[in-house]
Amino acid sequence: MKPSGPIPPGFEEKDGWLAFGGQSVQRWVEEGGTPVFLYSSAMITRRVAELRAALPPEIAISYAVKANPHPDIIGLFNGLVDGFDIASGGELALLGNLGVDPARVSFAGPGKRDQELAAAISAGVTLNLESAAEAERALAIAAQIGIKARLAVRVNPDFELRGSGMKMGGGAKPFGVDAALVPALIRRILDAGAEWRGLHIFAGSQSLDTAAIIEAQNNTLNLADRIAHEAGAPLPHCNLGGGFGIPYFAGDTPIDLAAIGGALAANLAGLGALLAETRFTLELGRHLVGEAGVYLARIVDRKTSHGQTFLVTDGGLHHQLAASGNFGTVVRRNYPVAIANRYAQPAEETVTVVGCLCTPLDRLADQVALPRAEPGDVVAIFCAGAYGASASPAQFLGQGPAREVVI
Ligand SMILES: *Cc1c(COP(=O)(O)O)cnc(C)c1O
Repeated sequence: MKPSGPIPPGFEEKDGWLAFGGQSVQRWVEEGGTPVFLYSSAMITRRVAELRAALPPEIAISYAVKANPHPDIIGLFNGLVDGFDIASGGELALLGNLGVDPARVSFAGPGKRDQELAAAISAGVTLNLESAAEAERALAIAAQIGIKARLAVRVNPDFELRGSGMKMGGGAKPFGVDAALVPALIRRILDAGAEWRGLHIFAGSQSLDTAAIIEAQNNTLNLADRIAHEAGAPLPHCNLGGGFGIPYFAGDTPIDLAAIGGALAANLAGLGALLAETRFTLELGRHLVGEAGVYLARIVDRKTSHGQTFLVTDGGLHHQLAASGNFGTVVRRNYPVAIANRYAQPAEETVTVVGCLCTPLDRLADQVALPRAEPGDVVAIFCAGAYGASASPAQFLGQGPAREVVI
Protein backbone atom coordinates (compact mmCIF):
# COMPACT_ATOMS: atom_id res chain seq x y z
CA MET A 1 0.00 0.00 0.00
CA LYS A 2 1.13 3.53 -0.75
CA PRO A 3 -0.28 6.58 1.07
CA SER A 4 -2.48 9.17 -0.57
CA GLY A 5 -2.73 12.87 0.24
CA PRO A 6 -5.09 14.52 2.71
CA ILE A 7 -8.66 15.23 1.51
CA PRO A 8 -9.07 19.04 1.60
CA PRO A 9 -11.35 20.68 4.17
CA GLY A 10 -14.97 21.29 3.12
CA PHE A 11 -15.75 17.82 1.77
CA GLU A 12 -18.19 15.65 3.72
CA GLU A 13 -20.45 12.61 3.44
CA LYS A 14 -24.15 12.65 2.61
CA ASP A 15 -26.38 9.61 1.94
CA GLY A 16 -23.22 7.54 1.46
CA TRP A 17 -21.87 9.91 -1.20
CA LEU A 18 -19.11 12.50 -1.28
CA ALA A 19 -20.72 15.90 -0.72
CA PHE A 20 -19.83 19.57 -0.30
CA GLY A 21 -21.92 22.54 0.73
CA GLY A 22 -24.55 20.09 1.98
CA GLN A 23 -25.08 18.60 -1.51
CA SER A 24 -24.06 15.15 -2.65
CA VAL A 25 -22.10 14.97 -5.93
CA GLN A 26 -24.47 12.19 -7.10
CA ARG A 27 -26.69 14.66 -8.93
CA TRP A 28 -23.90 16.07 -11.12
CA VAL A 29 -22.56 12.62 -11.89
CA GLU A 30 -25.98 11.33 -12.93
CA GLU A 31 -27.27 14.41 -14.73
CA GLY A 32 -24.33 15.11 -16.99
CA GLY A 33 -22.19 11.99 -16.75
CA THR A 34 -18.50 11.47 -16.13
CA PRO A 35 -15.70 12.47 -16.31
CA VAL A 36 -16.48 15.80 -14.69
CA PHE A 37 -14.71 18.50 -12.71
CA LEU A 38 -16.80 20.10 -9.96
CA TYR A 39 -15.65 23.43 -8.50
CA SER A 40 -17.12 24.90 -5.32
CA SER A 41 -17.64 28.67 -5.36
CA ALA A 42 -18.31 28.59 -1.62
CA MET A 43 -14.87 27.05 -0.95
CA ILE A 44 -13.17 29.64 -3.17
CA THR A 45 -15.05 32.48 -1.48
CA ARG A 46 -14.09 31.11 1.94
CA ARG A 47 -10.44 30.81 0.93
CA VAL A 48 -10.28 34.43 -0.21
CA ALA A 49 -11.96 35.53 3.05
CA GLU A 50 -9.40 33.55 5.12
CA LEU A 51 -6.60 35.18 3.20
CA ARG A 52 -8.02 38.69 3.63
CA ALA A 53 -8.43 38.07 7.36
CA ALA A 54 -4.80 36.96 7.72
CA LEU A 55 -3.10 39.57 5.51
CA PRO A 56 -2.57 43.27 6.26
CA PRO A 57 -5.54 45.18 4.76
CA GLU A 58 -3.33 47.18 2.37
CA ILE A 59 -2.21 44.03 0.54
CA ALA A 60 -4.16 43.53 -2.69
CA ILE A 61 -4.92 40.02 -3.94
CA SER A 62 -4.63 39.13 -7.58
CA TYR A 63 -5.78 35.89 -9.23
CA ALA A 64 -3.37 34.10 -11.60
CA VAL A 65 -5.73 33.06 -14.41
CA LYS A 66 -3.58 30.17 -15.63
CA ALA A 67 -4.48 28.14 -12.52
CA ASN A 68 -8.09 27.81 -13.72
CA PRO A 69 -9.43 29.93 -16.58
CA HIS A 70 -13.03 28.60 -16.49
CA PRO A 71 -15.26 31.62 -17.33
CA ASP A 72 -17.47 31.10 -14.26
CA ILE A 73 -14.37 30.98 -12.04
CA ILE A 74 -13.15 34.26 -13.56
CA GLY A 75 -16.62 35.73 -13.04
CA LEU A 76 -16.55 34.65 -9.40
CA PHE A 77 -13.09 36.13 -8.81
CA ASN A 78 -14.11 39.39 -10.49
CA GLY A 79 -16.22 40.07 -7.43
CA LEU A 80 -13.72 38.67 -4.89
CA VAL A 81 -10.20 39.87 -5.68
CA ASP A 82 -8.49 43.12 -6.66
CA GLY A 83 -6.94 42.09 -9.94
CA PHE A 84 -5.96 39.39 -12.42
CA ASP A 85 -2.61 38.20 -13.71
CA ILE A 86 -2.58 36.82 -17.21
CA ALA A 87 0.14 35.25 -19.31
CA SER A 88 -1.16 35.23 -22.89
CA GLY A 89 -3.22 37.07 -25.46
CA GLY A 90 -5.77 34.26 -25.16
CA GLU A 91 -6.27 34.99 -21.45
CA LEU A 92 -6.46 38.72 -22.29
CA ALA A 93 -9.27 38.06 -24.79
CA LEU A 94 -11.06 35.78 -22.29
CA LEU A 95 -11.05 38.51 -19.61
CA GLY A 96 -12.13 41.09 -22.18
CA ASN A 97 -15.11 38.95 -23.21
CA LEU A 98 -16.10 38.55 -19.57
CA GLY A 99 -16.06 42.32 -19.01
CA VAL A 100 -13.14 42.43 -16.56
CA ASP A 101 -11.79 45.99 -16.15
CA PRO A 102 -8.40 46.04 -17.97
CA ALA A 103 -7.05 48.51 -15.40
CA ARG A 104 -7.11 45.60 -12.92
CA VAL A 105 -5.13 43.26 -15.19
CA SER A 106 -1.39 42.69 -15.51
CA PHE A 107 0.23 40.61 -18.24
CA ALA A 108 3.45 38.68 -17.55
CA GLY A 109 5.09 35.86 -19.46
CA PRO A 110 8.03 35.45 -21.82
CA GLY A 111 7.59 35.58 -25.58
CA LYS A 112 4.75 38.09 -25.87
CA ARG A 113 4.14 38.62 -29.58
CA ASP A 114 3.73 42.09 -31.08
CA GLN A 115 0.00 41.62 -31.54
CA GLU A 116 -0.37 40.55 -27.89
CA LEU A 117 1.58 43.64 -26.77
CA ALA A 118 -0.60 45.84 -29.00
CA ALA A 119 -3.84 44.33 -27.68
CA ALA A 120 -2.70 44.75 -24.07
CA ILE A 121 -1.47 48.34 -24.57
CA SER A 122 -4.68 49.34 -26.38
CA ALA A 123 -6.80 47.85 -23.60
CA GLY A 124 -4.81 49.62 -20.86
CA VAL A 125 -3.47 46.44 -19.28
CA THR A 126 -0.18 46.68 -17.34
CA LEU A 127 2.66 44.81 -19.02
CA ASN A 128 5.13 43.02 -16.76
CA LEU A 129 8.13 43.26 -19.07
CA GLU A 130 10.28 40.18 -19.32
CA SER A 131 13.31 41.73 -21.06
CA ALA A 132 14.84 45.00 -22.28
CA ALA A 133 14.05 43.99 -25.86
CA GLU A 134 10.39 43.44 -24.96
CA ALA A 135 10.39 46.92 -23.37
CA GLU A 136 11.64 48.44 -26.65
CA ARG A 137 8.97 46.62 -28.66
CA ALA A 138 6.27 47.76 -26.22
CA LEU A 139 7.46 51.40 -26.38
CA ALA A 140 7.53 51.32 -30.20
CA ILE A 141 4.06 49.76 -30.42
CA ALA A 142 2.64 52.28 -27.93
CA ALA A 143 4.12 55.16 -29.96
CA GLN A 144 2.58 53.71 -33.13
CA ILE A 145 -0.86 53.37 -31.50
CA GLY A 146 -0.45 56.78 -29.91
CA ILE A 147 -1.09 55.87 -26.25
CA LYS A 148 1.02 55.67 -23.11
CA ALA A 149 1.91 52.09 -22.28
CA ARG A 150 1.54 51.00 -18.65
CA LEU A 151 4.82 49.29 -17.96
CA ALA A 152 6.14 47.30 -15.02
CA VAL A 153 9.33 45.26 -14.94
CA ARG A 154 9.39 41.66 -13.95
CA VAL A 155 12.54 41.05 -11.93
CA ASN A 156 14.51 37.82 -11.99
CA PRO A 157 15.39 37.98 -8.30
CA ASP A 158 18.83 37.00 -7.06
CA PHE A 159 17.18 34.58 -4.59
CA GLU A 160 14.63 31.79 -4.86
CA LEU A 161 11.64 30.60 -2.90
CA ARG A 162 13.14 27.70 -0.95
CA GLY A 163 11.20 24.45 -1.11
CA SER A 164 8.95 25.56 -3.95
CA GLY A 165 7.64 23.00 -6.43
CA MET A 166 8.56 25.19 -9.39
CA LYS A 167 11.42 27.64 -9.09
CA MET A 168 10.82 30.80 -11.07
CA GLY A 169 13.67 32.98 -9.80
CA GLY A 170 17.35 32.83 -8.90
CA GLY A 171 20.14 32.13 -11.39
CA ALA A 172 19.72 31.91 -15.16
CA LYS A 173 16.00 32.06 -16.02
CA PRO A 174 13.86 32.88 -19.06
CA PHE A 175 11.60 34.92 -16.72
CA GLY A 176 12.14 38.56 -15.89
CA VAL A 177 15.13 40.87 -16.08
CA ASP A 178 18.17 40.09 -13.92
CA ALA A 179 17.92 42.27 -10.82
CA ALA A 180 21.21 44.09 -11.51
CA LEU A 181 19.93 45.30 -14.92
CA VAL A 182 16.53 46.52 -13.70
CA PRO A 183 17.43 50.09 -12.53
CA ALA A 184 18.76 51.03 -16.00
CA LEU A 185 15.60 49.65 -17.63
CA ILE A 186 13.42 51.65 -15.24
CA ARG A 187 15.26 54.84 -16.22
CA ARG A 188 14.75 53.99 -19.89
CA ILE A 189 10.97 53.52 -19.31
CA LEU A 190 10.71 56.80 -17.37
CA ASP A 191 12.72 58.70 -20.02
CA ALA A 192 10.47 57.33 -22.78
CA GLY A 193 7.44 58.85 -21.02
CA ALA A 194 5.57 55.58 -20.42
CA GLU A 195 3.38 55.16 -17.36
CA TRP A 196 5.68 53.57 -14.77
CA ARG A 197 3.80 50.87 -12.89
CA GLY A 198 6.50 49.25 -10.74
CA LEU A 199 7.96 45.81 -10.15
CA HIS A 200 6.81 42.22 -10.40
CA ILE A 201 8.92 39.79 -8.37
CA PHE A 202 7.79 36.17 -8.50
CA ALA A 203 10.21 33.77 -6.82
CA GLY A 204 8.43 30.42 -7.02
CA SER A 205 5.30 28.32 -6.74
CA GLN A 206 3.74 25.58 -4.56
CA SER A 207 5.65 26.17 -1.32
CA LEU A 208 4.33 24.66 1.91
CA ASP A 209 7.24 26.07 3.91
CA THR A 210 5.89 29.04 5.90
CA ALA A 211 9.37 30.20 6.98
CA ALA A 212 10.59 30.08 3.37
CA ILE A 213 7.64 32.17 2.17
CA ILE A 214 8.28 34.76 4.88
CA GLU A 215 11.98 34.82 3.99
CA ALA A 216 11.20 35.25 0.27
CA GLN A 217 8.78 38.13 0.99
CA ASN A 218 11.41 39.75 3.16
CA ASN A 219 14.00 39.39 0.39
CA THR A 220 11.48 40.71 -2.14
CA LEU A 221 10.84 43.89 -0.16
CA ASN A 222 14.57 44.48 0.34
CA LEU A 223 15.21 43.93 -3.36
CA ALA A 224 12.38 46.30 -4.36
CA ASP A 225 13.80 48.96 -2.04
CA ARG A 226 17.31 48.52 -3.43
CA ILE A 227 16.12 48.71 -7.04
CA ALA A 228 13.99 51.81 -6.34
CA HIS A 229 17.02 53.53 -4.82
CA GLU A 230 19.33 52.59 -7.69
CA ALA A 231 16.73 53.82 -10.19
CA GLY A 232 16.14 56.95 -8.11
CA ALA A 233 12.37 56.67 -8.51
CA PRO A 234 9.53 55.82 -6.13
CA LEU A 235 7.71 52.56 -6.73
CA PRO A 236 4.00 52.95 -7.55
CA HIS A 237 3.29 49.24 -7.37
CA CYS A 238 5.03 46.06 -6.30
CA ASN A 239 3.75 42.58 -7.06
CA LEU A 240 5.30 40.38 -4.36
CA GLY A 241 4.56 37.12 -6.18
CA GLY A 242 2.91 34.38 -4.19
CA GLY A 243 3.92 30.76 -4.21
CA PHE A 244 1.46 29.73 -1.47
CA GLY A 245 1.06 25.97 -1.83
CA ILE A 246 -1.66 23.48 -0.95
CA PRO A 247 -1.26 19.98 0.55
CA TYR A 248 -1.36 17.33 -2.20
CA PHE A 249 0.53 14.40 -0.71
CA ALA A 250 0.71 12.34 2.48
CA GLY A 251 2.55 14.31 5.15
CA ASP A 252 1.88 17.72 3.52
CA THR A 253 0.52 20.35 5.91
CA PRO A 254 -1.07 23.73 5.10
CA ILE A 255 0.92 26.96 5.33
CA ASP A 256 0.42 29.24 8.34
CA LEU A 257 -1.39 32.26 6.89
CA ALA A 258 -1.48 34.12 10.21
CA ALA A 259 2.31 33.90 10.53
CA ILE A 260 2.80 35.10 6.94
CA GLY A 261 0.36 37.99 7.44
CA GLY A 262 2.01 39.00 10.72
CA ALA A 263 5.51 39.04 9.19
CA LEU A 264 4.28 41.02 6.20
CA ALA A 265 2.60 43.63 8.43
CA ALA A 266 5.83 44.07 10.40
CA ASN A 267 7.86 44.42 7.19
CA LEU A 268 5.47 46.94 5.64
CA ALA A 269 5.69 49.09 8.76
CA GLY A 270 9.44 49.54 8.27
CA LEU A 271 9.57 50.51 4.58
CA GLY A 272 11.77 53.33 3.30
CA ALA A 273 10.58 56.57 1.64
CA LEU A 274 10.62 55.28 -1.95
CA LEU A 275 8.23 52.49 -0.97
CA ALA A 276 6.04 54.58 1.33
CA GLU A 277 3.30 55.04 -1.30
CA THR A 278 3.74 51.66 -2.96
CA ARG A 279 0.68 49.47 -3.44
CA PHE A 280 1.57 45.82 -2.78
CA THR A 281 -0.10 42.80 -4.36
CA LEU A 282 0.10 39.06 -3.84
CA GLU A 283 -0.68 37.00 -6.92
CA LEU A 284 -2.05 33.55 -6.26
CA GLY A 285 -3.56 30.78 -8.33
CA ARG A 286 -3.37 27.32 -6.86
CA HIS A 287 -3.89 28.42 -3.26
CA LEU A 288 -7.21 30.06 -4.17
CA VAL A 289 -8.74 27.34 -6.36
CA GLY A 290 -6.75 24.10 -6.07
CA GLU A 291 -8.54 22.53 -3.15
CA ALA A 292 -11.98 23.74 -4.31
CA GLY A 293 -12.13 21.28 -7.22
CA VAL A 294 -12.72 17.55 -7.45
CA TYR A 295 -12.43 15.33 -10.54
CA LEU A 296 -14.90 12.45 -10.85
CA ALA A 297 -14.49 9.47 -13.16
CA ARG A 298 -16.55 6.30 -13.39
CA ILE A 299 -15.07 2.82 -13.07
CA VAL A 300 -15.47 0.94 -16.37
CA ASP A 301 -13.53 -2.21 -15.58
CA ARG A 302 -12.06 -4.03 -12.61
CA LYS A 303 -9.28 -6.47 -13.28
CA THR A 304 -6.43 -8.34 -11.66
CA SER A 305 -2.93 -8.63 -13.07
CA HIS A 306 -0.17 -10.54 -11.32
CA GLY A 307 -1.98 -10.20 -8.03
CA GLN A 308 -2.65 -6.46 -8.31
CA THR A 309 -6.16 -5.04 -8.66
CA PHE A 310 -6.75 -2.31 -11.23
CA LEU A 311 -9.78 -0.04 -11.34
CA VAL A 312 -10.00 1.27 -14.91
CA THR A 313 -11.91 4.55 -15.19
CA ASP A 314 -13.41 6.63 -18.01
CA GLY A 315 -11.08 9.51 -17.03
CA GLY A 316 -7.33 9.88 -17.00
CA LEU A 317 -4.25 12.00 -17.43
CA HIS A 318 -5.80 13.78 -20.43
CA HIS A 319 -7.89 15.65 -17.82
CA GLN A 320 -5.78 15.42 -14.68
CA LEU A 321 -2.18 15.26 -15.87
CA ALA A 322 -0.83 16.52 -12.53
CA ALA A 323 -2.47 13.69 -10.53
CA SER A 324 -0.72 11.18 -12.80
CA GLY A 325 2.61 12.70 -11.73
CA ASN A 326 3.50 14.00 -15.18
CA PHE A 327 3.27 17.77 -14.57
CA GLY A 328 6.48 18.95 -12.96
CA THR A 329 6.98 16.26 -10.33
CA VAL A 330 10.12 14.17 -9.98
CA VAL A 331 8.67 11.27 -7.98
CA ARG A 332 5.10 10.14 -8.58
CA ARG A 333 2.97 10.33 -5.40
CA ASN A 334 -0.75 9.91 -4.84
CA TYR A 335 -3.17 12.82 -4.76
CA PRO A 336 -6.03 12.45 -2.26
CA VAL A 337 -8.53 9.91 -3.65
CA ALA A 338 -11.85 8.31 -2.62
CA ILE A 339 -14.73 6.26 -3.98
CA ALA A 340 -17.37 9.02 -4.24
CA ASN A 341 -20.42 6.76 -3.89
CA ARG A 342 -18.95 4.74 -1.00
CA TYR A 343 -17.63 7.73 0.91
CA ALA A 344 -18.75 6.42 4.30
CA GLN A 345 -17.20 2.98 3.86
CA PRO A 346 -13.84 2.02 5.34
CA ALA A 347 -10.89 0.99 3.15
CA GLU A 348 -10.85 -2.75 2.52
CA GLU A 349 -8.39 -3.36 -0.30
CA THR A 350 -5.35 -1.99 -2.08
CA VAL A 351 -5.96 -1.00 -5.69
CA THR A 352 -4.42 1.00 -8.49
CA VAL A 353 -6.71 3.48 -10.27
CA VAL A 354 -5.88 4.08 -13.92
CA GLY A 355 -7.39 6.05 -16.77
CA CYS A 356 -8.57 4.81 -20.15
CA LEU A 357 -5.50 5.89 -22.10
CA CYS A 358 -3.23 3.31 -23.65
CA THR A 359 -0.09 4.44 -21.84
CA PRO A 360 1.50 3.30 -18.56
CA LEU A 361 1.71 6.97 -17.56
CA ASP A 362 -2.06 7.06 -17.08
CA ARG A 363 -2.16 6.25 -13.37
CA LEU A 364 -4.45 8.32 -11.15
CA ALA A 365 -3.72 6.51 -7.87
CA ASP A 366 -1.06 3.88 -7.26
CA GLN A 367 -1.70 1.04 -4.77
CA VAL A 368 -4.01 2.99 -2.48
CA ALA A 369 -6.37 1.69 0.22
CA LEU A 370 -10.03 2.12 -0.80
CA PRO A 371 -13.42 0.52 -0.11
CA ARG A 372 -14.17 -2.33 -2.50
CA ALA A 373 -15.36 -0.74 -5.74
CA GLU A 374 -16.99 -2.18 -8.85
CA PRO A 375 -17.66 -1.00 -12.40
CA GLY A 376 -20.25 1.79 -12.22
CA ASP A 377 -18.77 3.25 -9.03
CA VAL A 378 -17.24 6.71 -9.13
CA VAL A 379 -13.65 7.63 -8.22
CA ALA A 380 -12.96 11.11 -6.82
CA ILE A 381 -9.52 12.70 -7.24
CA PHE A 382 -9.20 15.80 -5.07
CA CYS A 383 -7.07 18.95 -5.46
CA ALA A 384 -8.36 19.25 -9.03
CA GLY A 385 -9.26 22.94 -8.99
CA ALA A 386 -5.93 24.26 -10.30
CA TYR A 387 -3.77 23.08 -13.21
CA GLY A 388 -6.31 20.34 -14.02
CA ALA A 389 -8.58 20.68 -17.04
CA SER A 390 -6.65 23.50 -18.75
CA ALA A 391 -3.21 22.03 -18.04
CA SER A 392 -3.90 18.54 -19.40
CA PRO A 393 -3.69 17.19 -22.97
CA ALA A 394 -7.45 16.76 -23.52
CA GLN A 395 -7.08 15.84 -27.21
CA PHE A 396 -4.62 12.99 -26.53
CA LEU A 397 -5.96 9.75 -28.02
CA GLY A 398 -9.04 11.57 -29.28
CA GLN A 399 -10.64 11.61 -25.85
CA GLY A 400 -11.70 15.27 -25.63
CA PRO A 401 -12.22 17.49 -22.60
CA ALA A 402 -14.11 16.68 -19.39
CA ARG A 403 -17.19 18.58 -18.34
CA GLU A 404 -16.58 21.36 -15.85
CA VAL A 405 -19.26 22.66 -13.50
CA VAL A 406 -18.93 25.57 -11.09
CA ILE A 407 -21.37 25.09 -8.20
C1 LIG B 1 2.02 30.47 -12.46
C2 LIG B 1 2.20 31.81 -11.92
C3 LIG B 1 1.45 32.22 -10.82
C4 LIG B 1 0.51 31.31 -10.07
O1 LIG B 1 1.20 30.33 -9.35
P1 LIG B 1 0.39 29.46 -8.28
O2 LIG B 1 1.34 28.43 -7.82
O3 LIG B 1 -0.79 28.87 -9.00
O4 LIG B 1 -0.06 30.38 -7.20
C5 LIG B 1 1.60 33.50 -10.38
N1 LIG B 1 2.43 34.36 -11.01
C6 LIG B 1 3.17 34.01 -12.07
C7 LIG B 1 4.06 34.98 -12.70
C8 LIG B 1 3.08 32.72 -12.56
O5 LIG B 1 3.82 32.36 -13.62
